[in-house]
Amino acid sequence: MRQSNLLATTLREAPAEAETVNHQLLLRAGYIRQLAAGIYTYLPLGRRVLRKIETIVREEMDAAGAQEMLMPSMQPAELWKASERYEVYGKELMKLSDRHDREFVLGPTHEEVITSLVRGEVSSYRKLPITVYQVQTKFRDERRPRSGLMRGREFLMKDAYSFDTRWEGLDETYSRMYKAYQRIFDRCGLVYRAVQADAGAIGGEGETHEFMAISGIGEDTIAVCSACDYAANLEQAEVHAEAEAEAVQRNASTLPAAEKFHTPGIRTVDQLEQELQIEPEQVIKTLIYQGGGKIFAVLVRGDHEVNEVKVRNYIGASEIALADSKTVQAAAFVESGFVGPVGLTLTLLADQAVAAMSEGITGAGERDFHLRHVVPGRDFTLEHVADFRTAEEGESCPVCGKGVLHFQQGIEIGHIFKLGTKYSEKLGASVLDATGQSKPMIMGCYGIGISRLLAAVAEQNNDGQGLIWPAALAPYQVHILLMSVQDEVQTAAAEALYEQLAQLGIEVLLDDRDERAGVKFKDSALMGIPVTIVVGKAAAEQKVEYMDRRSNSKEVIGITEAVSRIT
Ligand code: ATP
Ligand code: MG
Ligand code: MG
Ligand code: MG
Repeated sequence: MRQSNLLATTLREAPAEAETVNHQLLLRAGYIRQLAAGIYTYLPLGRRVLRKIETIVREEMDAAGAQEMLMPSMQPAELWKASERYEVYGKELMKLSDRHDREFVLGPTHEEVITSLVRGEVSSYRKLPITVYQVQTKFRDERRPRSGLMRGREFLMKDAYSFDTRWEGLDETYSRMYKAYQRIFDRCGLVYRAVQADAGAIGGEGETHEFMAISGIGEDTIAVCSACDYAANLEQAEVHAEAEAEAVQRNASTLPAAEKFHTPGIRTVDQLEQELQIEPEQVIKTLIYQGGGKIFAVLVRGDHEVNEVKVRNYIGASEIALADSKTVQAAAFVESGFVGPVGLTLTLLADQAVAAMSEGITGAGERDFHLRHVVPGRDFTLEHVADFRTAEEGESCPVCGKGVLHFQQGIEIGHIFKLGTKYSEKLGASVLDATGQSKPMIMGCYGIGISRLLAAVAEQNNDGQGLIWPAALAPYQVHILLMSVQDEVQTAAAEALYEQLAQLGIEVLLDDRDERAGVKFKDSALMGIPVTIVVGKAAAEQKVEYMDRRSNSKEVIGITEAVSRIT
């Protein structure tokens, strides 16, 4: 590729709204451009990197036995209503209607579509297990789409889904995917860590891991043991921060400080109001998101008969607080010192569950919560797992007890999940087993944020001058800088080298622009191509300068030597 012809304008300064290094550099080096908040164009250089990531992901997914397909972004709202996520997913769900006023959503994820598809395609256990995947654009109306590709409102994801008849089969696929994820992130040159995530967030039984790129700009805090391999997502810092910001906006003076609570236990609403000196609605909105703090509070409003409110530690599954079974309103909170998600179980009378849901108990309307143990006529349980972790840095490890916990910031680049039968039950995807019995399919889902991964690699690989791509992801492997386009000798040498490398199958970018040498050096460092070959005055003696972007080393060598180093 000739740079004189490349759609890539470098910028001296990053736009003010770009706060993170990856965002600034990707804009400055001409990889991406913003169209609207959280919505980006990939310029040719950005597209090439994205493609490399996609290729690695595809190779590893194929090797793990997953089949590629492509599902629509536009999805009928009915599907989301059937899975009971239409309301629960909250404002992140992009909704639209067609000319006949039929409701649709722009898919933020594809569990509904794939489950309903497989329901129609597979009826016998003999066709299972299967794993399918796609690389596709997702839409999420994120509250704070500010950090460039990290949190897009339109972004590229690889999502895979597995279907099985046996739980052990799910375990096998899950571990195969786990290993494939490790290979993908290794090949992308990332520093990352797999951590335990919200076990129970989708059903209580599902094991789940997040893959975290280690970075100071990461929105997630992870607790890592110094002695064993325990690592867990500490809190959803983002949710916490959002809720806090929201509360501050609402009324800064009434934001309750965590320190206000000293005694764990059960309060009536009156006591709660008194203790916090705020309105109950605010209690719901703010305290429910005090992740990482020591407080967990729940408030049920309205005329619901609440049989009981339990708050329990999901890791030990021990109940750590139990509110009374007051009619109308109930509150429970707890102070505890464990690591892991806190589950909340509300037992309601059957006919009140819907009303309770639509009121968004505990602010859970925007988070995962669901109904369990539905026994017609009898009581059933509404369960919500909140993202609360209450570990302190330096605390002893909850698993081995020997090491201490260190905190790190991480960027969630991948997430794998044992879904179980949640979606197959709701959407009626079942198969006949060997004995002719109908069984719901056992599912897993596996996501990678392809575009976020690009940003994470950029964030981990740069210096004061610009990006430094790992060879596996670089848009080009070699950047030839022709110092003077007026000089015939230099031009001829650069052109010849360019042709030679291109013919050898090397991805090479030739800076043939009529620009000053200083500009070319600056732009090249900004773009971050692994090897730069400077064709200048020494070309007269068949010599070039060979520069390694990462080590910043420079060496004058013969042209033939340069070619053999590259190939
Ligand atoms: P987050 O906690 O950052 O909001 P998530 O848990 O909502 O992410 P998942 O539903 O697990 O995301 O989606 C799978 C993967 O898609 C994530 O692990 C992440 O890499 C990526 N991803 C999620 N949201 C975005 C986004 N807004 N922009 C870019 N990538 C995203
Ligand atoms: Mg999210
Ligand atoms: Mg997450
Ligand atoms: Mg996730």
